[in-house]
Amino acid sequence: MTRRRRYCYVEMSLAPGPAADPYTIRATCLTCAEQSPEPEPSESITDQHQRAQRSCTSHAARDHSDGRHLRYTARVTLRWLVTPGENIGPIAP
Ligand SMILES: [Zn+2]
Repeated sequence: MTRRRRYCYVEMSLAPGPAADPYTIRATCLTCAEQSPEPEPSESITDQHQRAQRSCTSHAARDHSDGRHLRYTARVTLRWLVTPGENIGPIAP
């Protein structure tokens, strides 16, 4: 037995989520996993980027017992909210 599905076209808009900081940038040392400080909610994305980079260079300048920590990753998190143009069902918790 084949189950029929109904489809309809619904406009969707996407914007930064209002419930949380719209973005965060944090760097992580690949040697010891230390992270750059949690950004302040008022910091711009450029300020967060610069702060994460400064955290990497200061961490690399430290004299670690196992040698210099020179490899890092940076994670940029953008929080978005999709708003359907009409009711398409309940929102997941
Ligand atoms: Zn490290």
